[in-house]
Amino acid sequence: MRDEQQEGVVLQGTGGIWQIGLPDGSTVDSALRGRLKHEVLGGLKLAVGDHVMVSRDDAENATWMIAAIHPRRSKLARRAPSGAHGERVVVANLDQVLVVFAAAKPEPHPRMLDRFLVIAEANDLSARIIINKVELSSEEAVRARFAEFTAAGYPLHLTSVVTGLGLEALRAEVEGRCSALSGPSGVGKSSLMNLLFPGLDLRTAEISESVNKGRHTTVGARLHPLPGGGSIADTPGLREVGLWGIARNDIAQCFPEFRPLLGTCRFQDCTHLVEPSCAIRDAVAAGTISTGRYESYVKLRDEVTER
Ligand code: GDP
Ligand code: ZN
Repeated sequence: MRDEQQEGVVLQGTGGIWQIGLPDGSTVDSALRGRLKHEVLGGLKLAVGDHVMVSRDDAENATWMIAAIHPRRSKLARRAPSGAHGERVVVANLDQVLVVFAAAKPEPHPRMLDRFLVIAEANDLSARIIINKVELSSEEAVRARFAEFTAAGYPLHLTSVVTGLGLEALRAEVEGRCSALSGPSGVGKSSLMNLLFPGLDLRTAEISESVNKGRHTTVGARLHPLPGGGSIADTPGLREVGLWGIARNDIAQCFPEFRPLLGTCRFQDCTHLVEPSCAIRDAVAAGTISTGRYESYVKLRDEVTER
């Protein structure tokens, strides 16, 4: 008897049963083969987004088993608090993080946006900012308000589910890629994605950050394959991933507009808080780095220091 094999992607997992998406768009429930189970227990834990090979016996109705886990190209992980070791991979193989805020209702907080962006950067993931509900304000006002983020190098999308503004441009950047969807609740994440990709059926409540704010959750991420290729991951919240285990000296690296200046301060171990001849603080004084972004740097650095 010969094994039948297929490549697949882990869409979700509960209690040792993993839902695997196959290339033809169908899904199968699958468990890990015995040998792999040992490896998994030995450290490499299977995660949503992992690329796997599933196999089954020729026999009719034989169940698919996960026979191999392919190497990850990226991961969004909740690291263990410093002192402990290990990490929990929330989603593997992401290409980008979509951070959605609203122009109004709810009012956007740029410093909260910084926090999302820093978490993405700490995971080596590129981020894309989407400001939805633009019809409640004006394109001009929104561009001015978020200029500090475009100056920092982030792509900015202005969208409206009501007028259709920016939808095609956004679709072009999402199709064919694997994206994590994040942002405060009520900004229109699910409205936006369901409109871009009819039939996607995102679970609004579970992707809403507020639901998981400040507590552990057992709700795992789930991957939604897109018709044109790629997928959307509704994660239990980027803030749940947090900045656990990030070294305080790595925070400056999480601000892309700081990076070209790092290493040019007078002191090699400059914290950019109080030292003289600090390239970062000079840039803030000169207006090339925004005061708000710098304030977030100070705050987030202080936060990880406390842990
Ligand atoms: P989520 O919690 O981020 O997934 O937000 P929802 O998609 O559930 O949307 C929250 C509310 O905002 C709903 O009442 C939507 O109808 C509304 N909404 C979504 N997009 C827009 C938009 O572009 N403009 C306006 N005015 N309302 C929107
Ligand atoms: Zn400095």
